[in-house]
Order: sequence, then C-alpha cells, then structure tokens
Amino acid sequence: MTPALTLLLSLQALAQTISPQLEARAALLASQAEQSNLGYSIVESLTTEVGPRLAGTEAEERARNWAVAKFESMGFANVRVETFALPVWERGVEWAQITAPYPQPLVVTALGGSISTGPDGVEGELASFPSLNALATAPAEIVKGKIILVDEVMTRTQDGSGYSVAAAKRRQAAYIAEEKGALAALIRSVGTSSHRFAHTGQMRRVTEVGEPQGVPAAAISAPDADQLQRILAAHSSLRLRLVLTPERRPAGVSGNVIAEIPGREAPDEIVLIGAHLDSWDLGTGAVDDGAGVGIVMAAAKAVMDAMPNGPRRTIRVVLFGAEEVGVVGGKAYAEAYANELANHIVASESDFGAGRIWRFNTGVVEDKVQVAQALGSVVRSMGAGPGSNAATGGPDMKYLREAGVPVVGLEQNGWDYFDLHHTPNDTLDKIDPQDLAQNVAAWTSFIYLAANSEDSYR
Ligand SMILES: [Zn+2]
Repeated sequence: MTPALTLLLSLQALAQTISPQLEARAALLASQAEQSNLGYSIVESLTTEVGPRLAGTEAEERARNWAVAKFESMGFANVRVETFALPVWERGVEWAQITAPYPQPLVVTALGGSISTGPDGVEGELASFPSLNALATAPAEIVKGKIILVDEVMTRTQDGSGYSVAAAKRRQAAYIAEEKGALAALIRSVGTSSHRFAHTGQMRRVTEVGEPQGVPAAAISAPDADQLQRILAAHSSLRLRLVLTPERRPAGVSGNVIAEIPGREAPDEIVLIGAHLDSWDLGTGAVDDGAGVGIVMAAAKAVMDAMPNGPRRTIRVVLFGAEEVGVVGGKAYAEAYANELANHIVASESDFGAGRIWRFNTGVVEDKVQVAQALGSVVRSMGAGPGSNAATGGPDMKYLREAGVPVVGLEQNGWDYFDLHHTPNDTLDKIDPQDLAQNVAAWTSFIYLAANSEDSYR
C-alpha cells in the first residue's frame, strides 16, 4: 500500500460528523444527568408499585400499564403496547430435604420451564457430577432412577463471561437427565455468592417447552451443594426428597412497551435503546432489569428536555417483555419491525445490573469501528477504558444484530452482578444511586451523539 493510499484510508475511517460542539454539548448533558436521581426514582417506582413481574402473568401486564403511564407522564410520544402470545410457566411449592443419612432441609428453587414432581414429590439416591459434560458422558446405569446433581462452580468475572459457561447446566441438565432415566435434576446455582439463596433461571426457551419436557429441575444454593459434597465424601449413599409443583399454561400474553422522541430532520432513522420489563418472580427485579428500565428512560428524558424541537433522528425506547424466559419480546420486535430494521442506525440494551460503566464496545462492521467508537467519546471521558468490537448490545438485541443492525455496549461492571441475579435478594436496596446516575449520564451522551450525528455504522 502506498503511503498516500494509507493516509486516504485512515482519513476515511476518521471521517465522522460528530463535531467538537456536539461532543461538548453531550458532555454537558451527561454531567447534568449525573446530578439527577430520575433513573433511581424510576426503578424505585417500578419495583415498589409493581414488584415481581414474571413473563405472561397479570403482574407483567401491570408493569406494561405502569410503563405506559410513566412514559406519558414524562412527555414521550407514540407510546404503545405491542402484545404477543407465549406459553406461561408459574412457580408452585418448592422444597427439598436430605432423608438419609442426615435428615435436614435444603434451599432450592425450581428452574423456569420445569415440570412438576406432583405434590408428593420424588425421593431417591443422589448421583453427583462435577460438570455438565460428566453427566452427558456418564453411563445411563449410574443415572437411572436417581436424583442427579450437576455441581459445577461459576467463575466470577468483571465482564460476566463466566455466565454463558455456567448457564449451560441450567439449560441442559434436565433434558440429559431425562434421556438417561433420572428421577429429577439439581444444579448448583448459576451464581457467584456464598449466600444461602438459590438462583432460578430458564431452562429451554418457554416457546420451545414441550417435547422433550425434561425431568423436574431445581437449583440449590452454593452452601447446600457444599453440604451435599461433604456427606457424599463420607457416605456411599445419600437420599433426597424433592417437591416442585410449577404449572404451565399454553396460552398467555406478554408485550413490548414502546415510546419515542420523534426526530426533527430524519424521523425515519431510529436510534433504539432498550431494557427488559419482565423479571423473575423471586425478587422485585431491581437489578435485573429494573435498573436498565430506569437508565434508558431517564437518559432519553434528559435528551428530550434538552432538545424541545427534537433530536435530528428518532430515539425509540423499547421495554421488552418476556426476556427472561427466552428473549421472546426481542424476537417479536425484530419480526414486527422487519421492514424498518434497515433504518435502525444503532441499537443497545441496558441489562447487566446497576454497576458503573467501565468500557464502551461496538458491534459493527470492521471499517466502521472507529466512527462508531466516537459515540463513546464522552463515556470514555467518564472513566471507561478502551473497548473492543465484541459488543452483543444485550440479550434483546440478538435478532436485530443478526439482521444487520449495528450495536454498541455500554458495558457495566458485573463483578457482583451474579451474587444477586435471579434470587429473592434482587431488590432496590442493592442499587447504588450514584452508580446508577453514572449509567444514565453515559447513556445520555451516547444517545445524544447517535441521534444528532449523520453517521452510518453499517
Ligand atoms: Zn436481565
């Protein structure tokens, strides 16, 4: 390559329409947003006035009504609910105990999608496996007729990369156990704390539940898994009783709630930001994902108030339904807006708790990385380190990303996230208002820049 061509190519890569003036305004709005408690007050309102909001239930419908009223009171335009059908799973009674050699209770919680044991439960010998792979490769003789335990420990990381590895046992153990003739399946909770809570979470997507249906499946708390290992180390036989009575209904309703700040010059061009409105039923869904709801609503409001005539492009806020049970709302959105996805300029979801943002990642074609990284200039000035081009944009962005929509990731510190995740302990008091405000500030700068630039990230 000639030096002149190299220079030309690097100048093209640098070409972007974010001016120093635009960037300065974004920084100012961010610093104002960081002084506001709006994001926190939104999470407080949702988790107090609605509480838990499991996908497809009446509680999730109340959350949609809450969201419509909140968006309207804040002055958003085109507020609407877009419903979709899905099967519904609801928790029943759940308990377990060691019956021999040392009778005592255990802390368990059913996994989403699990079938019922019936009210009398199941009783059997425990067979423990150190990993999902060890269960998958075990001869059926040592599994048949037993309650199995997959006792795999999750790795704690700042970026949450231990989760997908650990969640595999939650998604697959019940089905592998069924193939080998087990009575029921237990997993060590997908979580990183030593507290005595069990972490729930979905097995297969709720839309794929049916055949095979798996054996009854539950998570046990980490100290309970340790307790079982101590007993197993000293005794050839350990027996348990497990009772789970969840119910499944084939036809339920969930929905996405959408609101907009219409664009002034290019209303058809969409900057999409989202979070998910549903939560697991055990806590009040403050960290997962009330925090995301508060962050994106407050950030959009900050831009709306600063621009009475609207930003250049439309900012669309989507609160997705039924994320926890299999990204059902994310898929419904991608299908409903298939014809408009080419006009989605950039998209991102906040769904990793309430920790401070420490990195700005992009998920765009290689020759647009530099221009897309400009959207994170203010975020970097707030202390975020250099990012990568490995952003997923969040779970509900999966189908948009696959359809070619550019995404970015305002990556949050997830060191503690999986201590609380999907437990009764996911409540408002776990959110640091200052950390949440830092998120709102970062998102405010990102959407202000994205909605007022003329850049393309495709
Ligand atoms: Zn979530």
